Amino acid sequence: MTTSTVKTNLLGLTQQEMEKFFDSIGEKRFRAGQVMKWIHHFGVDDFDAMTNVSKALRDKLKVIAEVRGPEVVSEDISTDGTRKWVVRVASGSCVETVYIPQGKRGTLCVSSQAGCALDCSFCSTGKQGFNSNLTAAEVIGQVWIANKSFGSVPATVDRAITNVVMMGMGEPLLNFDNVVAAMHLMMDDLGYGISKRRVTLSTSGVVPMIDELAKHIDVSLALSLHAPNDALRNQLVPINKKYPLKMLLESCQRYMSSLGEKRVLTIEYTLLKDINDKVEHAVEMVELLKNIPCKINLIPFNPFPHSGYERPSNNAIRRFQDQLHQAGFNVTVRTTRGEDIDAACGQLVGQVLDRTRRSERYIAVRELSADSDLAQNAANTN
Ligand code: SAH
Ligand code: SF4
Repeated sequence: MTTSTVKTNLLGLTQQEMEKFFDSIGEKRFRAGQVMKWIHHFGVDDFDAMTNVSKALRDKLKVIAEVRGPEVVSEDISTDGTRKWVVRVASGSCVETVYIPQGKRGTLCVSSQAGCALDCSFCSTGKQGFNSNLTAAEVIGQVWIANKSFGSVPATVDRAITNVVMMGMGEPLLNFDNVVAAMHLMMDDLGYGISKRRVTLSTSGVVPMIDELAKHIDVSLALSLHAPNDALRNQLVPINKKYPLKMLLESCQRYMSSLGEKRVLTIEYTLLKDINDKVEHAVEMVELLKNIPCKINLIPFNPFPHSGYERPSNNAIRRFQDQLHQAGFNVTVRTTRGEDIDAACGQLVGQVLDRTRRSERYIAVRELSADSDLAQNAANTN
């Protein structure tokens, strides 16, 4: 009688899990480090290429294990150097990963879920509803794929991944274990060796999981605020009805003080024309955040069809920024990048769109953000 075994995917295993795996098959623990380096440093998925591993062990691994990243459906490169990958995950859905080069910094924006259940009113991912959680291998697999596309390690400085932000599709705190495991791999020297300050998790505010996060990891935290009061935030970010602002900001402060060093919370605020972009909103925000060490990142709304929202004028954006700045806050306006390949924040849709819809969207984006001088001046804080 033959039994078919499901192969263990080694891509998403943390060092601890990898050591356990080698233990469980009667092999020495130090194999974990060897194999992890092949996988993450050199992008190898073929056991035969792991030349410092004995032939016998390689043959054994081929039978019981695999190194499997998500399938790359497409890779686009924008005229501004931004890259976008569409990858297919096990559930059959597609998610997107975006690489944004900026001087010496290279930021990879990684997805955590296919779709999102939280339904923020201005987010195209939210509009698709929730499809599935990504596995740890699918989350770290996005870093693996991007890293491989830049050639072998060490990548040249202008193409290296120096920062990772969990700001792609999905709410990372609702796929907690897999996202935490993948973030450990991002920071581990046997993984990608990225500093904890340069790995950022962005959340719309799942309060109990922010508290849980502090027990597991010490990455940087970004909060998607988008409104300075509960009435407005309830409309824009529905999870606010469950975890209102006071509760939310307290949990963020607890998280920040759990970090062993002084770091500031990033506040993300998507500016929506005539909705949350008035001076009175900025004034309210100053009051709300006055005792919280933070930097504020304003994100001019990136339009998508039938969103019902518009991007504010550059004057309105500048006015809002000035108001916060005058109150002493560190405020930046996020540069819109990769527009020509639909890679901007909130435009990540994931499914493979047909060409007609893509070009319609391309035109809409171009028209609405034609006045992009602001983008030239702004610096991204992440
Ligand atoms: N779910 C997480 C992380 C992914 S969204 C979160 O909400 O924080 C990353 C950021 O892009 C969030 O701040 C989100 O609110 C913002 N965003 C979503 N749609 C947008 C849009 N259409 N234009 C600009 N920013 C948007
Ligand atoms: Fe989900 Fe974030 Fe989009 Fe809200 S903004 S729907 S939490 S991905």
